[in-house]
Amino acid sequence: MTLYQFLTKSSYFIKPLGSQSQKKIQITKTICRAVSTTQQTTGAQSSLLECETQENISNDELYLNEIYRSIPFSHAKLGKFYQDRPALENQYTQDAFLRSFLRRHLPSKHFKLVDEDLNRFGNRVTKDIYELSLRLEAEQPKLEQIDAWGKRTDKLILSTAWPQMKEIAAEEGMIACGYERIFDEWSRLYQISKFYLFEPSGGLFGCPLAMTNGAAKTLEVLKDKHSWVYDKAFSRMISRDPNTFWTSGQWMTEKQGGSDVARGTETIAVPQSDGSYKLYGYKWFSSSTDADISLTLARVVDKSGSVIEGTKGLSLFYLEVRDENSIMNNIQMLKLKNKLGTKQLPTAELLIDGARAFKISEDGRGVASMANMLTMTRIHTAMGAASSMRRMVNLARDYSTRRKAFGKILHQHPLHVNTLAFMEIETRAATILVLEIARLLGRQEVLGKGKELEDEAEVLRLIVPLAKLYVSKQAVSVLSEGLECFGGQGYIEDTDLPRMLRDTQVNAIWEGTTNILSLDVLRAITKSSGTVLKCYHEDVTRRIQAGRSNAELQEAVTAVQQSVNNVLGLASKLSPDLVEMAARDFAFSLARIYMGALLLEHACHTDATQMDIVTAKRWCEKDLAPLCTQGGHQNFTQKSMEQNLALVFDGYLHPSRL
Ligand SMILES: Cc1cc2nc3c(=O)[nH]c(=O)nc-3n(C[C@H](O)[C@H](O)[C@H](O)COP(=O)(O)OP(=O)(O)OC[C@H]3O[C@@H](n4cnc5c(N)ncnc54)[C@H](O)[C@@H]3O)c2cc1C
Repeated sequence: MTLYQFLTKSSYFIKPLGSQSQKKIQITKTICRAVSTTQQTTGAQSSLLECETQENISNDELYLNEIYRSIPFSHAKLGKFYQDRPALENQYTQDAFLRSFLRRHLPSKHFKLVDEDLNRFGNRVTKDIYELSLRLEAEQPKLEQIDAWGKRTDKLILSTAWPQMKEIAAEEGMIACGYERIFDEWSRLYQISKFYLFEPSGGLFGCPLAMTNGAAKTLEVLKDKHSWVYDKAFSRMISRDPNTFWTSGQWMTEKQGGSDVARGTETIAVPQSDGSYKLYGYKWFSSSTDADISLTLARVVDKSGSVIEGTKGLSLFYLEVRDENSIMNNIQMLKLKNKLGTKQLPTAELLIDGARAFKISEDGRGVASMANMLTMTRIHTAMGAASSMRRMVNLARDYSTRRKAFGKILHQHPLHVNTLAFMEIETRAATILVLEIARLLGRQEVLGKGKELEDEAEVLRLIVPLAKLYVSKQAVSVLSEGLECFGGQGYIEDTDLPRMLRDTQVNAIWEGTTNILSLDVLRAITKSSGTVLKCYHEDVTRRIQAGRSNAELQEAVTAVQQSVNNVLGLASKLSPDLVEMAARDFAFSLARIYMGALLLEHACHTDATQMDIVTAKRWCEKDLAPLCTQGGHQNFTQKSMEQNLALVFDGYLHPSRL
């Protein structure tokens, strides 16, 4: 007997009570109890028994039939209410901030073409590209090391969506557009804007593309010294033809160190008579394991069999991962990493066992030659983090027009909208930093030299690590807040929302952790004997200048000006070891101040909207100088350093390890 048959038959068990409404409640309760019991058991029998306990059978068939029709629970019906899902709509046309930045900077002839392409692409990332990303999450990479007959295969089994993503990346010219430079100095801005749309839908294919962009930049710079590598690999990395397009890996991290590659790199390079090298080592993290080529670090072995320790011993090598018959270049995949997120992306431990490679840096200049690659991958990391915030905010905003609570749509609750507004401000601040970096990079690449460009290069040297370290942290907080905006649904895997948070967490770790990047900021300042900081200060002051004549922005301008003076003043008083302890607060302060300056500048341009002004003001109301405000210099003393250690290890069972 089906449930429906059971329910219609069981009608005569139910007793009508006095009033109509009472009758209705009694009937509904009985039927519901019957249904829930039925669902928990294998048949209708137990429900029947429960209904039979009802006394005084009614014959009011007509009335009951009507009731049955309106009962929302049955095998055929899941209830009357379905929550509208948040809609994923054109990610470009609905991004008022991205569009206004592009309109402000691009000459109209370029803006027209860029706007057209991003409009089309903004739609595409919600369609086939997004669908592929869902497949990539569902069909995660697997490693078959040994086949059924005992032969070592090291076969990486990938979803067919992965090569499809690669095809799309080539056809869309994701890498190419940064190097063809058809939009002159704005080509990088166009490229990074396009990635900004792609990344949250890209199923982590953005990772190999980031490394490819970095490798292309590295080889472009080395063009004259290593022309054959450039001719062979560069043209493929910037190809729009899927048949020739190559992606690159970046193998630096070894078991002893990802942050500290100088001490952690054990891989050695043995010179061969034909000028090539054979590499031997163990790479602990290698993302995009299916890449066609890789750039990696190793120590050249001299004739006595010795290597030089430290950074001075590291050189940069180019290798092709497979030959033309897809046979691995003496590289074995030992394990695929079981990761918190980025599960779509294969990340492997590799044993390099005599891989043929070519040195593309001078001896001992490996880390320096890798700098361009790291700059590019760090820009990608910050961009990816900012774009994940934008995607989450877009979805949460849309959901706030569809979900009802306490008799109102969510957007009618001021508290909820306040939360969304906080997320929007964070997203705009992150986005403007990333876009400005792209704009400055494009200027460096296309416009050549000059005092203004030299100063911009110094600023760029500082703001790339700042963006990477700060935006990555912002993204985790905004995405976590974003999940909450969906209530319980935010925690449910098949909404695809939890994945977004998981995937975002990695940004703070790969390409350098927050602390390592903070130390990198200090290094940039020390190495330039303070020039970097001087240029930064001048740049901030120049950018906020226009805001001085705008009454609405006065307070914000003052906040930025005072913060930058206070932070630089305090930092200059700290001794080197205390500066190191303060590096993170120092970097956060520089990042927040710079974002404030950018937002103020944006709010003063001729087409600025009221929302641009609100954004700048709100951002500058924030604590822009945590270095000074969160305890300030009282926290950065020898005594507090000792207290920290004592506090952290209070109760620790192995004090002898300290
Ligand atoms: C999913 C994923 C994919 C990756 N893919 C790649 C890849 O393709 N290629 C590649 O080369 N690497 C890759 N990595 C490795 C990654 O770049 C490193 O793990 C990362 O740079 C951190 O290095 P580590 O693991 O050695 O951390 P550690 O250096 O061991 O850091 C541990 C902690 O100590 C802190 N710390 C370390 N030194 C200092 C210091 N001097 N002062 C203050 N704090 C310090 C760090 O901030 C961190 O909190 C990947 C990592 C992940 C998670």
